[in-house]
Amino acid sequence: MIIILKPATATAMQAKLVSQFGADHEIFTHNNRIAIQGLRPEALPADVQAASESILTAVPAAVQSSRLFHPEDTIIKTPHSVIGGNQFVMMAGPCSVESAEHVDQMAAVAKQGGATIVRGGAFKPRTSPYSFQGLGETGLQYLRTAADKHGLDMITEVMDDEHVAMVAKYTDIFQIGARNMQNFSLLKAVGQTQIPVALKRGMSATIDDVLNAAEYIAAGGNHQIMLLERGIRTFDNKYTRNTFDLGAVPVLQSLTHYPVIVDPSHAVGTWELVTPMAMAGVAAGASGMIVEIHDQPTQALSDGPQALKPATYLKMAQQAFQLHDLMQTWA
Ligand code: PEP
Ligand code: MN
Repeated sequence: MIIILKPATATAMQAKLVSQFGADHEIFTHNNRIAIQGLRPEALPADVQAASESILTAVPAAVQSSRLFHPEDTIIKTPHSVIGGNQFVMMAGPCSVESAEHVDQMAAVAKQGGATIVRGGAFKPRTSPYSFQGLGETGLQYLRTAADKHGLDMITEVMDDEHVAMVAKYTDIFQIGARNMQNFSLLKAVGQTQIPVALKRGMSATIDDVLNAAEYIAAGGNHQIMLLERGIRTFDNKYTRNTFDLGAVPVLQSLTHYPVIVDPSHAVGTWELVTPMAMAGVAAGASGMIVEIHDQPTQALSDGPQALKPATYLKMAQQAFQLHDLMQTWA
C-alpha cells in the first residue's frame, strides 16, 4: 500500500505510521508518500485516512523502484556525468581491459566521441572457462588510470559479492552483468554501497524480474540504479546475438524512475548492426548508451565481432547526439 499524504501534515503522519507499524512492517517514505508493506487500508487510523489524498492498494512488489512511490526521474551524478531524465550519456570502451596502453587508447577514442564514461571488463563472465577471464584487479588499475587521464568516469563489471569492496576502490559505477541479474547476494552487496549500479537485464528476465532485481539494490539503501537493456534470448539468434527489446525502454520508463540505458553491442552481436540499433535506442528515448569499441576487432580478447572501430564509433556517436538533440526540440 502507498499512501499519498496531504503535504501539510505528511511529515507528522509519516512519523506516526512509522512508530505505530514500523516494528512489524517494512516502511519507506518519499516526499509526501509512504509505502507500508503488508498492511491493509482498514488498519489505518482514521486521522491518517483523513490526512491522505489517496491510498493505492494495487502496488507492485518492487515498490521503491516504482513511479507510484517515486514519480520523479532519478538523476545520477558521477564526477563527469549526469545520468537520467533528458540527458544523454555515452559510455564506450572495449569489452575487456586488455592492457594499460590499449585501454588508454580506447578511452581517448571514447572521449573524442563525446563519452563521459569509459567501460572495460576486468572480471569477465565467459561462456567457456577456457576463454580469457579478464585481468582482474590489474585491469581495474589500468581502467582507472585511463579514465583519470582522460577526465572520464569508469564503469566495470563486478561478478562476485566478495569482490565488491575491491572493485569499489576503483570504479565510479558497478556493472551487474546479464548473467548475474538475479545473483541476490551480489545485488545485496552492491546495495550496501553508495556507488551507482548499472543493472543489465538478464537474458530471459521479464520486466518485473528486472524491477525486482533493482529493488534488491534499493532495499539495501542504494538508490543510484540504472537499468540496461542489452537484448534477450528469443527463438532466433541466427542473425543477431539477442533480440533487442526496444519496447522495454518506454515500458521501464513508465514503471520506474531509474534511468534506462541501451546496449546495442550485446543486443546484436555484429558490428554492422550496432549503428542502426544504437540509433533506434536513442529514438526509443533511452537516457544513454553503452557501446563496445576496438581498434583491431579481430585481435580483441572478447566480443570482437560486435566492436565498432574508432571511425565507425565516432560517426555513430555524433549521429546519436544529433538525434537526441533533435528529439529534445519535439518535447
Ligand atoms: C559486457 O558488458 O561485456 C557483458 C558481458 O555484458 P552482458 O552481461 O550484457 O552479457
Ligand atoms: Mn562484451
